[in-house]
Amino acid sequence: MTTTVPDAALEVLQRVFGYDAFRGDQARVVAHVVAGGDALVLMPTGAGKSLCYQVPSLVRGGTGVVVSPLIALMQDQVDALTALGVRAGFLNSTQDPDQRRAVEQAYLAGELDLLYLAPERLRVASTVRLLERGRIALFAIDEAHCVAQWGHDFRPDYLLLSELHERWPDVPRLALTATATPETHAEIAQRLDLGDALHVVASFDRPNIQYRIAPKDEPRKQLLQLLRDEHPGEAGIVYCLSRKSVEQTAAWLAAQGVAALPYHAGLDAPVRQRHQARFLREDGLVMVATIAFGMGIDKPDVRFVAHLDLPKSVEGYYQETGRAGRDGLPSTAWLAYGLADVVQQRKMIDESEGDLAHRRRLTQHLDAMLALCETVACRRVQLLAYFGQESEACGNCDTCLVPPETWDGTVAAQKVLSTVYRLDRERGQRFGAGQVVDVLLGKRTPKVAQSRHDELSVFGIGGELSEGEWRGVVRQLLAQGLLAVTGSYQVLALTEASRPVLAGEQQVRLRKDPVRSARTRSRSSSAPADLPPGAAPVFERLRAWRAAAASEQGVPAYVVFHDATLREIATTLPATTAELGRVSGIGEGKLARYGAGVLEVLAGAPPAATAGPAAAPAAAPAAAPAAAPAASPGPDPEEDWHEQEPPDEDG
Ligand code: ADP
Ligand code: ZN
Repeated sequence: MTTTVPDAALEVLQRVFGYDAFRGDQARVVAHVVAGGDALVLMPTGAGKSLCYQVPSLVRGGTGVVVSPLIALMQDQVDALTALGVRAGFLNSTQDPDQRRAVEQAYLAGELDLLYLAPERLRVASTVRLLERGRIALFAIDEAHCVAQWGHDFRPDYLLLSELHERWPDVPRLALTATATPETHAEIAQRLDLGDALHVVASFDRPNIQYRIAPKDEPRKQLLQLLRDEHPGEAGIVYCLSRKSVEQTAAWLAAQGVAALPYHAGLDAPVRQRHQARFLREDGLVMVATIAFGMGIDKPDVRFVAHLDLPKSVEGYYQETGRAGRDGLPSTAWLAYGLADVVQQRKMIDESEGDLAHRRRLTQHLDAMLALCETVACRRVQLLAYFGQESEACGNCDTCLVPPETWDGTVAAQKVLSTVYRLDRERGQRFGAGQVVDVLLGKRTPKVAQSRHDELSVFGIGGELSEGEWRGVVRQLLAQGLLAVTGSYQVLALTEASRPVLAGEQQVRLRKDPVRSARTRSRSSSAPADLPPGAAPVFERLRAWRAAAASEQGVPAYVVFHDATLREIATTLPATTAELGRVSGIGEGKLARYGAGVLEVLAGAPPAATAGPAAAPAAAPAAAPAAAPAASPGPDPEEDWHEQEPPDEDG
């Protein structure tokens, strides 16, 4: 299918954004919305959803109203647009009345191309009246999955958005999300009344992200190895389940010399805000966080996302890992996963509040996540299948790169199950996985001796496997539903499905856990070292210039230029303004603002001289001033509203 994009849209893309052509499905969406149609757009992170509403907003005349839950990031979004020469503003609770009035005036005077709003603003009658008095080009509903209760991020205020259509029947609406199970998709369409809209479901593949799931051994050391060997000095996110482990991990990494900061909903709002701002502005920081961090973080050069605990759903996992590599350069998604994770998650579901249907939904989400962890096939094929998309083995995930072996684990499974059965018959005391493994190995621990488990017939029948291997067997039996966790003491118990295995009627295939440290890539090829000879020093000089320019303006470095743009400049060495303007990512706004500075750097001028009198020491980009607090003058009443994280757990 060929799409004719209106000339005006292509002109805006090239002149304002500096890109040659629309990517993938962008053209289809832009053409449809420019013509006044509604659209529901499901594209993975990094695919370029923003242009789908930014370009039509500029083409259609009037203001594009963007509804987004991410008020903490609105300032950055507006800064990025301003750097392109686009007239943008936002209205949220971080502003004082004067700032708000200025934005309102600009809107009414027709001087705003884009206006960002939090959804709860639409509950306020004065906002609605304001919008009615101006000219609206379109409504863009960002993070549209927040309207879906099935998903992992439901926000009640999103339900208000169904009224947009009734109030402004002629204004096109565009709902966008990076979450796309068929269930979520259907729910968005239904709740936002987008049944007749153009539905665009892009491929959810993120080929530049290398997916890896490792058996958890010594998770912090494994993490440190990943950071040191593959991503030294690069920006990344480390997700932990609990606030406590966030703080401990961040402190531990800092003690190892890694620039790391904690982030969770229990920290004071100003601290959170400062850490987030530093992560966005400085080069190469590691953010250790709960899932309260990350939605809407559009930092393009996040080189890795690591999970030290098992995510609760594939949807959440894909969303979180999707924050890596928005710039399309090679990135890593790494997850460490072990027996304790399965036990803990099963137990949390068991104890969770809510009805049976809710618990069943949690169990389905977890089972899909476990299946992904235990698969011997391509991780990406399995991930995409979860989103209803077929694909071929990718060649860029751990199971493709080092195919895991499987083995007939029937006898091992029977040994575990009979041990669980025997321990389960002991009255009074209850035993978890540790005791099962000790009994199998014939270890006379005090606990074994005291409970006289050394007298059981199963004592010591498991000498053929190591402790780690037995834990792997137990973990896989739990993942496959052949074992269950019951009660609050993480006791193992048989399930209905255990019987045929014990009776020898069913085979069990198990995955052989790969040996630790089987590394699949030595360095990320986004590194300067991978540039052609001669280009690396130029790239470094450009980076230093960029850090100075960004800190002078109080914006993140990527608002000035993305790495990909600097790489292209360093490789092609444009000599004139016209040549520089042809580099991807340089439109007329950036050319006017930064062109001379870049050409001076290329001509060999010392970088500090090009960034004006307020320049920071150019050689030390990591020392850019912490947290320009401009984006958030104080505690924000809306802030907690968009944070959801699990209750604190001792990991
Ligand atoms: P999403 O919101 O879908 O995660 P973004 O809108 O942030 O993605 O875009 C991801 C990156 O791709 C950005 O750096 C953006 O500038 C770039 N990009 C988007 N569309 C194009 C295009 N047509 N050509 C080149 N780069 C693009
Ligand atoms: Zn693969």
